[in-house]
Amino acid sequence: MLYRSTRGRFGPVTASQAIKLGIAPDGGLFVPTDPVTIENPDRLINSTYQERAEAILQPFLTDFTGAEVRECVQSAYNTVRFDTPAIAPLYKLAPGLHLLELWHGPTCAFKDMALQILPYFLKKATEKTGEDAEIVILVATSGDTGKAALEGFRDVPGTRIVVFYPEQGVSEVQKRQMVTQEGGNVSVVAVRGNFDDAQSGVKAIFTDETVKADLAIRGYKFSSANSINWGRLVPQIVYYFSAYLDLRRDGEISPREAVNFVVPTGNFGNILAGFYARRMGLPIHRLICAANRNNVLTDFIRTGVYDRNRAFVRTISPSMDILISSNLERLLFELTGHDDRVSRWMEQLRSSGCYAVDADTARAVAELFWSDFADDAETINTIRNTYREYGYPMDTHTAVGRVVYGKYRAATGDATKTVIVSTASPFKFNESVSIALLDPETVSGRTEFELLEILSGLTGWVVPPGLRNLDKKPVLHDTVVNREEMKDAILRILRK
Ligand SMILES: *Cc1c(COP(=O)(O)O)cnc(C)c1O
Repeated sequence: MLYRSTRGRFGPVTASQAIKLGIAPDGGLFVPTDPVTIENPDRLINSTYQERAEAILQPFLTDFTGAEVRECVQSAYNTVRFDTPAIAPLYKLAPGLHLLELWHGPTCAFKDMALQILPYFLKKATEKTGEDAEIVILVATSGDTGKAALEGFRDVPGTRIVVFYPEQGVSEVQKRQMVTQEGGNVSVVAVRGNFDDAQSGVKAIFTDETVKADLAIRGYKFSSANSINWGRLVPQIVYYFSAYLDLRRDGEISPREAVNFVVPTGNFGNILAGFYARRMGLPIHRLICAANRNNVLTDFIRTGVYDRNRAFVRTISPSMDILISSNLERLLFELTGHDDRVSRWMEQLRSSGCYAVDADTARAVAELFWSDFADDAETINTIRNTYREYGYPMDTHTAVGRVVYGKYRAATGDATKTVIVSTASPFKFNESVSIALLDPETVSGRTEFELLEILSGLTGWVVPPGLRNLDKKPVLHDTVVNREEMKDAILRILRK
């Protein structure tokens, strides 16, 4: 399997090269040149998560041997790193409605599903391509990717990692997780701005020839741990298959019965993996894209017009506070049959913040995807009601999914069995979850760290080890920069 850039001016390259580069030098994203199909997925019904992962990953990583893929899978998905042998368990909330819990990894959000394995892919990729430069992983984060990448890459030989996060755009727990990060090869920098500022800044650094030249002299090369890296996206395909196979195994669906997935969406990486799973033959009826008030994707899916010219809203689901959803570029490239219209749209997005796709492409999007959004009040109500009705505490992002699923049912009447992708542990966004579940007197004046314990007492769920004692750890990273200073910050860090 080879990979080419969505901007059409780079590739084809091997999976190793695509993973090592992260983003294509022409500014595009790597996609597989050919479709992959998984024959008879039902043969994996009684397999473990690890066995399923091997079967799904191998056809995308054809320059890796079977033994190498297995080694990566075993190193990432085990009970040292995940708190359940199921890795990504399904929880049956109600008849025909399941939650796919993707937060059992070390940082309590779904980013671990990919970022636990990406460092192993990257290590193999650098070996295969005979790389002797040190790889610098540049990360822009809306909160969860940063910590997951730091955990994945800390002290990995031959790598450095630099994370940029929006100073005001992450929860207290998320921030503490990052600024207390230990490891000899890690740096964390706050940016005065929002996630889009951080992401655009990182993308600009990737394609800045003077920075690249400066670093090459010092023996460094950039790569990415954001979902613009194919190596981040491909492990996410696995859990769509795994969820489906669990439903089959548990007798919840009949052979070939199609299901819906509801995906709380920001950068469009998670839901895009669902799109690829469907292309590979997984019976998915609808992919329901759940947004918060930064609902640029909802508008796009409904109208074919992508317009980021709108106020950026800070919400209680901060990992989805994004107006430029990078991975949409891959979807459009696939839906147009790898056409260079996509380059033009992306150029329009860059220059005017807006583009409109042609009618055929808009129709293709709307046939498969459906979207709506939830505001903060709806999100809080849903956390409260879900807990009252089922005793299940949801995080804010998952709750956005549940609100939007309710709107989908009401709008379409579609009774297809549905999986809501649960992207974070409720403890990770515990201030909002506490507001939903506790009375105001209990919440007021308490820190997020006190609330963790109270929530644990209420729900009987244990506080995940990764979130315990965060307030007692020393702050190791306190640099704050303006967006224009990101480039200098990188140079300063790497010249040290
Ligand atoms: C990153 C993240 C999302 C959004 O996922 P995308 O792949 O960016 O669409 C949703 N919820 C949580 C908790 C996240 O960390």
